[in-house]
Amino acid sequence: ATPTALLVGTGRGAQLGVLIRGPEVLESTRRVDTVVLDKTGTVTTGRMSLVDVHTAGGVDPVDALRLAGAVENASEHPIARAVADAARDKVGELPDVETFSSQAGLGVRGVVDGHTVVVGRPALVARHGVPPELAAAQADAEERGHTAVLAAWDGRVRAVLVVADTVRSTSADAVARLRRLGLTPVLLTGDNATVARSVAHEVGIEQVIAEALPEDKLAAVTRLQADGKVVAMVGDGVNDAAALARADLGLAMGTGTDAAIEAADLTLVRGDLGAAADAIRLSRRTLATIK
Ligand code: ADP
Ligand code: MG
Repeated sequence: ATPTALLVGTGRGAQLGVLIRGPEVLESTRRVDTVVLDKTGTVTTGRMSLVDVHTAGGVDPVDALRLAGAVENASEHPIARAVADAARDKVGELPDVETFSSQAGLGVRGVVDGHTVVVGRPALVARHGVPPELAAAQADAEERGHTAVLAAWDGRVRAVLVVADTVRSTSADAVARLRRLGLTPVLLTGDNATVARSVAHEVGIEQVIAEALPEDKLAAVTRLQADGKVVAMVGDGVNDAAALARADLGLAMGTGTDAAIEAADLTLVRGDLGAAADAIRLSRRTLATIK
């Protein structure tokens, strides 16, 4: 491939809303046969909204929202934004959080008004078990395709916060186009399997890998490569960065985090998955004209 022809391809990419790190990227783009798609913020908009709060032990839902919202206020995760925004709507200004920490793909922790508050997945929050009424509320929300996170403080799980996300209007069409290019789509998410299957069904993906921590996302890409696949990975989050760097071709949503964009070879400027199909088609055409 001559460098000039590749650069022409790069300029065309910019018109399509795809930023390409360097002309050599087109070379690996052409050989891709598997495309791994992150769910939240990639297949879905990642603009979540809080739809329900369930509490146990007579806790006032507004108090639960106040404590959880104060901790989530310090996080940039889409779930965190939904919880913090809803909390601010209900209680006004949120209390300060001290000794805040976040664990990618798990949740957040901080001290609010002297209470140690943890919000996130059961693996992070529910060391001491989930009260049955909250476990039932969580299962029910997930059955409906919503994401449910737990909130605990003072050593006990006291609330379930239910957030809803929307599948991007362009995702199903983009998956169909990727398939027509001969690629096998795989949905890869830190969210639970019920929610993941519901989204996969909506956009036409059969293979689902759920409850994946950042290191599991990396391992999933590595495993596909060990099976002889040439893997493209599309993601938006800090939790996708390692997998994006490992993939034969890493694509970041332009609407995503800096960590994802820095780890990727291509950036889909408008956050539209259809641009991934455009980029792959473009690289094949560009390299075909060179031969
Ligand atoms: P995805 O892989 O779909 O982009 P993430 O890996 O970012 O999802 O998150 C996986 C799961 O971790 C979420 O579904 C949620 O249960 C939990 N989680 C992560 N960050 C937070 C947070 N700030 N607040 C609450 N829960 C969180
Ligand atoms: Mg994501």
